[in-house]
Amino acid sequence: MGTIIKKYEPKWSDRFYLVAILQGMMITLKHFFRKKITIEYPDVKRQPKPGYRGLHRLNKHEDGKIKCVACGMCASACPADAITVIPIESPYEESRPSISEKYAQSEERFPGTFEINELRCIFCGMCEEACPEAAIELTEIYDFTYLARKQAIMDKESLLDIFDKTKNGNFYLQEAK
Ligand code: SF4
Ligand code: SF4
Repeated sequence: MGTIIKKYEPKWSDRFYLVAILQGMMITLKHFFRKKITIEYPDVKRQPKPGYRGLHRLNKHEDGKIKCVACGMCASACPADAITVIPIESPYEESRPSISEKYAQSEERFPGTFEINELRCIFCGMCEEACPEAAIELTEIYDFTYLARKQAIMDKESLLDIFDKTKNGNFYLQEAK
């Protein structure tokens, strides 16, 4: 069924715009005294809520060993085909503690190459969900840019560096100190 829209017929007072101007000024005045929600980025940075899915990191054990056992589950789960993992034999003499019995035998594996193409990534968090060792995690870091496409491919060292920068809590709280 169609909708009938009545033609607007302006009153004589509308032709002076006085009422409209006063109404507009009232709205401006009302917002003038409200709490400001604009953030002066980049001087001030918004704190993302817990669970925000930003830049990835590769987690380490307390003794500094990489948690990743190069099982490739994250790469298989990734819908954007953004992760590349090439396993090599673990360089660690002692095996690492494994949180997953199923993959306990994988402790001998180590990520020789671990790369994430952040331009392909859609930040869905499937890699984090799929990881049996809680080795890959999405952090609260949201303001990252690149000058070239190849800079968007994060290698193992960059991912471990993000772990060091985010392990003690909120990255932006630390930055503000
Ligand atoms: S967040 Fe999603 S798209 Fe990005 S690397 Fe992980 S699984 Fe792939
Ligand atoms: S990050 Fe997790 S899922 Fe991905 S290869 Fe390493 S251990 Fe496996």
